[in-house]
Amino acid sequence: MIPITDPKGQLTFIQDKIINKINEVLVSGKYILGPHVTELENEIAGRLGVSDAIAVANGTDALVLTLHSYGIGMGDEVITTPFSFFATAEAVSRVGATPVFVDIDETFNIDPLKINEKITSATKAILPVHLFGQPAAMDEINSIAAEHGLVVIEDACQAFGAKYKGKEVGSLGNAACFSFFPTKNLSTIGDGGVIVTSDKKAAKRIRALRAHGSTQKYFHSEIGYNSRLDELHAAILLICLEYIDSWNEKRRVLAKRYLKELKDTVCLTMPPAIEHTTHVYHLFCVQSEYRKEMIDCLNEAEIQTGIYYPRCIHLQEAYASLGYRKGDFPNAELLSDRLFAIPLFPTMTIEEQDQVISALRNFEVSGQ
Ligand SMILES: *Cc1c(COP(=O)(O)O)cnc(C)c1O
Repeated sequence: MIPITDPKGQLTFIQDKIINKINEVLVSGKYILGPHVTELENEIAGRLGVSDAIAVANGTDALVLTLHSYGIGMGDEVITTPFSFFATAEAVSRVGATPVFVDIDETFNIDPLKINEKITSATKAILPVHLFGQPAAMDEINSIAAEHGLVVIEDACQAFGAKYKGKEVGSLGNAACFSFFPTKNLSTIGDGGVIVTSDKKAAKRIRALRAHGSTQKYFHSEIGYNSRLDELHAAILLICLEYIDSWNEKRRVLAKRYLKELKDTVCLTMPPAIEHTTHVYHLFCVQSEYRKEMIDCLNEAEIQTGIYYPRCIHLQEAYASLGYRKGDFPNAELLSDRLFAIPLFPTMTIEEQDQVISALRNFEVSGQ
């Protein structure tokens, strides 16, 4: 079976280095908030050109702590996309605020032209997602936010290394959140996340929040969380950080080849390639009105596929109380019926990719 993504292939490629690091951490006796976490935070902040990086337990907590640090809570509204992993909206609800959805455009990301009509006196922030590794329209989003005095928090969980007009995502809003979950582009052998910001005040509060609201051991200025990145994961991520650019480049080379080889395939629409952005293809998602048949056909050829996402967030049972209906966000809903991911990962071989390409082309021949 050719998988859609292969975290194991990526991590075993540097297995010896990882094993050495695990030993190093083990015998160091420092397991929580030690030198590896500090080094990782410095490396990431330096790379993105921001003042602070604060490593936390996972990407969801990164979003929760960031929203909390800006005082967003009960009675507040946060504008976001209905087409993302559930955690984006869940984090908003977790701090007591309400997610307000805005439909996506052809980029799969929030449509900046539809944001204004959703702004109310309760709106506090805009939370765009760089879905599948494709940067959202940050210039437009930032100018709307500036006009209305809103905070911009990037959900960059799928997009480490992606660029928007030459600048890395994560450095474009007030703060940004990344996830190191095993399937993400930059990942470890467990959960992890990081918040990046140049807002010193927010950074200071997030640092306290991740450790029970304490700035000094056993003295607590507010109710916080226990959300820290382990030394073990920080050490592994420091190794992966050396490879992330070459891994992302491999993803782009494979994507370019798919775009070229599959562009004329009947019943299949390629993902959009947006000008002025560098996509990092966390996932390569194609569209077809014959999704089910294509998935079956690929499955028979021992090729894995995945549906991202089979149900939009506004239609999730957990959000029934918000009162959204089918038809509220037609672009997002159409994609939830048609989109599916095909295999793409840095260690994928040309032979494997050829198999995927020919299976999809064969569908054209044997199909309708
Ligand atoms: C993965 C992901 C998250 C959550 O990250 P975790 O580390 O799994 O908690 C949030 N938003 C998006 C868009 C994601 O893809």
